[in-house]
Amino acid sequence: MELRNYMEEVVVQKLDQVLAQYPYCCKCEQCRRDIATLALNKLPPRYISSHKGDIYTRINEMEIQYEVEVIQAIAQAIEIVHAYPRHEQPAAE
Ligand SMILES: [Zn+2]
Repeated sequence: MELRNYMEEVVVQKLDQVLAQYPYCCKCEQCRRDIATLALNKLPPRYISSHKGDIYTRINEMEIQYEVEVIQAIAQAIEIVHAYPRHEQPAAE
C-alpha cells in the first residue's frame, strides 16, 4: 500500500507561482523548503492512494478545489520566512 499526501504536490506546483509575486523574498533552496514546510503544516493533509493510474487527474481536480487555501498558506509562509530567514545573509539575487 502506498499513500501520498497530495497537498505536497499542490504546494510544490504552486510555490514558484506565488513566490513570483514576492520579488523581495529569498528564493534559495533552504527558504523554498521552509516555505513549503510551513505552508503544508497549515494545510490539512489529503491522502490519496497512488496505486491508481489517475492520480494526476485527481491532483489537478483537487488543486482547483483548494487553490485559494493553498495560495494563502504559501503567502503566509513567505511572510514568515522572509521575516525570520534561517540563514544570516540573503542568497545571491
Ligand atoms: Zn534563503
